[in-house]
Amino acid sequence: MTEHPRPPSVDKLARALSNSGLPHPICVDIARSAIEAGDPESAMSRAVDYQRTLLTPVVNATGVLLHTNLGRAPIAHQQLPVASTVEFDLATGERGSRQLAVGQLFARLCGAEAALVVNNNAAAVLLVVAALAAGRDVPVSRGESVEIGGSFRVPEVIEQSGARLVDVGTTNRTRLADYQQAVARRDVDAAIVLKVHPSNYRVEGFVEETSISNLATLEVPVVADVGSGLIDATCPWIKGAPPAWLAGEPAVVQSLAAGADLVTFSGDKLLGGPQAGIIVGRRELVELCQRHPLARALRPGGLVLSALQETALAYLRKDVVTVIPFWHMVATPVGELEERANSIVAAVEASHPSAEALPTNALPGAGSAPGVTMSSYGVVVDGDHLESLRGHLKPVIARSRDQHTTLDLRAVTPADDAILIEALLASS
Ligand SMILES: *Cc1c(COP(=O)(O)O)cnc(C)c1O
Repeated sequence: MTEHPRPPSVDKLARALSNSGLPHPICVDIARSAIEAGDPESAMSRAVDYQRTLLTPVVNATGVLLHTNLGRAPIAHQQLPVASTVEFDLATGERGSRQLAVGQLFARLCGAEAALVVNNNAAAVLLVVAALAAGRDVPVSRGESVEIGGSFRVPEVIEQSGARLVDVGTTNRTRLADYQQAVARRDVDAAIVLKVHPSNYRVEGFVEETSISNLATLEVPVVADVGSGLIDATCPWIKGAPPAWLAGEPAVVQSLAAGADLVTFSGDKLLGGPQAGIIVGRRELVELCQRHPLARALRPGGLVLSALQETALAYLRKDVVTVIPFWHMVATPVGELEERANSIVAAVEASHPSAEALPTNALPGAGSAPGVTMSSYGVVVDGDHLESLRGHLKPVIARSRDQHTTLDLRAVTPADDAILIEALLASS
């Protein structure tokens, strides 16, 4: 009868995992579960698997620039380990407002009287409706009673805010007269009219919506959730005409100029900043939001505020393309991407004879500008290599179709081309 070797002690095995870089208590948990599974040998691969559940920097070669699963807009931001004036007024030496600095910058940038920042745009809409319409009615077009990003559903947000949704018009056509009738109904106490940009889908054909300038003729304040955070439809921060794929995206400056009383948008979509929700518009309405108890629960921390401040300053200085990674990606000429794709192909050809540099279509992503693409270039190789590319030390996220893998370069910084090459060579 052969004797079973005694399992190693948890402590000994955990210490053997210390070069995984994981902290000791986690190594102990991993060692214990490996021993309990009767497979102590698996401890190191379990540690590697655990390591890969942590937030990990990746190379986004999907061609989707604002990839919701990859954190939407990439931002370059670090906070120094020092105190800052988050809620301190240097002029008086007394307590200040965390909203002041970033609020005044966004107000200036958008041509609004005031601005307020919260955690994300879902929170912005929730707060606006709660502060302006709780216990009252909110007319919304049936064509705009949408779900965005899986869990942001307009009817539910309105209900959570304590207001009542009043459906207006039809799915495909809603006219000013429909809003006028809704607001005039004796059983309706309209506090605001909410216009929501149906960011992630498009209805085509026999379609009509009511513009902000027409809504502004109603007696009640107009709140426009434009979602994407395109600041100005004329894109004064890039050379030449605004990119064609932006046509049809509502912009903050133009929505306010058309008569919206408040506009809400995300920080990490087309704005290109950190996750945040921004409320801009008439001072008295912004102040009602700021004074609402939810504002405290939804307020962002200093890390987000300083990243947003950098973002707003870049727009005001018009150096968006150099400072904001998303706009840098957008502005990169396709010829540059083609050259990089050719160099990558040359570097991997020996082990991937099928490798080719080909034109591709990249997408803005994050539900912005549905159905539109921007021209890009990629490296295409035979076979589905997604898993092995993900398994690279610095994981590469690509896309595959019909047994071809495409690594799109529009969302890849040139410094990461070397990683694409390494990952491709390792996956041949
Ligand atoms: C994306 C989006 C939201 C949700 O914004 P988050 O910042 O993800 O919370 C809400 N409304 C519209 C119109 C959007 O496009």
